[in-house]
Amino acid sequence: TKSDTEGFPHSIVELLDGFKASKTLFTASKLGVFDVLSDSGLTVEEVANRINASVLGTEKLLDAAVSLGLLHKLKCEDKPVYRNTEQARQFLVSDSPLSLHAYILHCNDMIWPLFTHLESAVREGTNQQERAFGKKSENVFQDVYFKKDEVTLRFMNAMHSIAKVTGRDVATAFDLSHFRTACDVGGCTGAMAYEFTKAHPELSVIVFDLPAVIEMKSHFQSKEQDGRVSFVAGDFFKDDLPKADLYILARILHDWSDEKVHELLSKLSKSCTPGCGLLLSEILLDEERTRPSRALLQALSMTEGRQRSAAEYSNLLKKHGFSPVHTRYTNNLLDAMLFVKDEQT
Ligand code: SAM
Repeated sequence: TKSDTEGFPHSIVELLDGFKASKTLFTASKLGVFDVLSDSGLTVEEVANRINASVLGTEKLLDAAVSLGLLHKLKCEDKPVYRNTEQARQFLVSDSPLSLHAYILHCNDMIWPLFTHLESAVREGTNQQERAFGKKSENVFQDVYFKKDEVTLRFMNAMHSIAKVTGRDVATAFDLSHFRTACDVGGCTGAMAYEFTKAHPELSVIVFDLPAVIEMKSHFQSKEQDGRVSFVAGDFFKDDLPKADLYILARILHDWSDEKVHELLSKLSKSCTPGCGLLLSEILLDEERTRPSRALLQALSMTEGRQRSAAEYSNLLKKHGFSPVHTRYTNNLLDAMLFVKDEQT
């Protein structure tokens, strides 16, 4: 038989099923499948019993997860036994150090509902918070994420899990040995800050974030005791920023319009003396704005921000007296750019 199916639209067919695959991962995570399989392999009945679900539904979910490479299915006497794959063990079990569990729940609970209204989002050119959650939102942080402690914690957990997985690559992307104090602007749980202090023994980091976030920081401090990380509450559009000789902006600017970015950068620029560093971490688009698709898909959630290329970020920052020094494509979820404040502006 001819295995080369030239002319067959493989990539389109894969996209047709993409949403089913995502939802399989989300549902298995949400029901705790990877957690109940974290110690040993289990039969369908055992998993169904522990996740409190039907045997029929659990079997279909587990088999789909096997087909996606998330679980192994092993022959065992009379009944098959399901086990976590190595990747599931490392990234999907909720209490593993590099778990993406919280981010997966964020995708399921906050992003998926927005994308079910993509058609309206495109027609109207606006985000779909109101259709998806019944709430109009001018500022997604204040109006959606930080209204209730429980939602704030869920958002923080999601940010924390991505920062844990990406933080080391961002923290080690550049030689930062001449900086002593950093301020992680919008630094959330401090996950990124701890990666910076781990990587740079001379550096201390102040995490600056909204009061609603800083109030919850104790939920994330258990294992990470490091006196070089401290926390300051404030609004980066309204309040003074802590003094530092390196400012970190990780996953901040893509949430804001050029106008808001200018507002924030102008403030940062005033806090900076010549030689001060600014480390930006974002997904960087290529100059044609065609890749990576991760960034362009994220843009469809239609926050007021935009995804930008390295040249676009450089142009925004140059207007505030910051010159690009290095750009690092990490091949991870986040790229990084280092800027330095010019002598005179
Ligand atoms: N930098 C973190 C990271 O990379 O994991 C978190 C990125 S998260 C997408 C954006 C962060 O900006 C949130 O922690 C949010 O609370 C914070 N933030 C949003 N608006 C803010 C404001 N006006 N002042 C201070 N922080 C703000």
